[in-house]
Amino acid sequence: MKEYVYADNAATTKLDKDAFEAMIPWLIDEYGNASQPYAFSRKPRQALEEARATIAACVNALPEEIYFTSGGTESDNWAIKGSAFADCDHQTTITSLLEHHAVLHACEAIEKMNYPVVYMRPTNSGYILPDILENHINKKTRLVSVMLANNELGTIQPIKELCKIAHAHGAIFHTDAVQAVGHIKIDVRELDVDMLSASAHKFNGPKGVGFLYIKKGVTIHPYIDGGAQENRMRAGTENIASIVGMAVALKNNCDALEANIKHIMHLERILIRELNEAGINYVRNGGASKLPGFVSLSFPRKDGEVILHRMDLMGIGISTGSACNSVNKEVSHVLKAIRLDESLAKGTIRISLGKYNTEEHVYKIVDALKRIVK
Ligand code: PLP
Repeated sequence: MKEYVYADNAATTKLDKDAFEAMIPWLIDEYGNASQPYAFSRKPRQALEEARATIAACVNALPEEIYFTSGGTESDNWAIKGSAFADCDHQTTITSLLEHHAVLHACEAIEKMNYPVVYMRPTNSGYILPDILENHINKKTRLVSVMLANNELGTIQPIKELCKIAHAHGAIFHTDAVQAVGHIKIDVRELDVDMLSASAHKFNGPKGVGFLYIKKGVTIHPYIDGGAQENRMRAGTENIASIVGMAVALKNNCDALEANIKHIMHLERILIRELNEAGINYVRNGGASKLPGFVSLSFPRKDGEVILHRMDLMGIGISTGSACNSVNKEVSHVLKAIRLDESLAKGTIRISLGKYNTEEHVYKIVDALKRIVK
């Protein structure tokens, strides 16, 4: 079978082989429930705590600051709702129009419960600059939630500066780092964030598992009621195999971070050079500070959906916007937020390159685009 060129790594990533192998024993032989007191549960419990320590070390957190979840969506929902439900004064949440629906829809849900939310508009390049936050924040702000890197544009937000502003006004800061963790250096102490969401399947780990970093001393409401797991903050029998797989995948990506970035940036440069040499007419969205391998392109008077399907027929997987939006045929909320002209927005595709992509893949992508849009 002809190799499928997968260039939609922002939607999900291929499972790291070491992660897969590390998961197997916890599914087949060591299947004990980590919460039970007998000997058979000792190893799974140990594996759980080792995974927590590994993940904590990768983002410079303490192990007890890492809470396992079912992925990015749950981590975001927990941060937004858990912070609101711990606040009897119903103070304001500030977020941005760039956020993933996991944050935006969680914010809409708390608004219906009378917790006010303010939505900041980004610049036309897709950034929430410090003065934008300054214009919205006040002493009644409880939480600021701004994503670390956007899932359509790849734009990296000035989180450290935004966090400083939030803290100066007595607010806490959450960042959805789902697209960034395992791809660029993340240091929760240096950023000084209070909460950070991550999802394993975005960094070559398994699907359906992630974590929420909650800084020691930050109070939020538990998310799922039930047993005493995750320090009584998130009930439910732990998904040991997936958690172990997540830790191995994250450590592998963090250990090879510089090499992966170098490789992916090399591919991105080839992609742009070849597009230019082919004389293809496009607009590139986003700005200079962005994740490696993220390429959002708008083709004037073209249809992104058509490009996607024609590329799929040629054996290439790309996206028109975010994968979570594939059923919604409207122009994406991110492209609207950056005020992209509607005719350009409709002709927008997202190519997201990953560590398993090769130069050959990039040449195939460019060849396909030449045939479709030129
Ligand atoms: N946040 C961002 C920025 C994302 O890109 C995604 C997934 O696309 C999510 C949250 C949701 O993560 P998950 O798929 O693990 O629920």
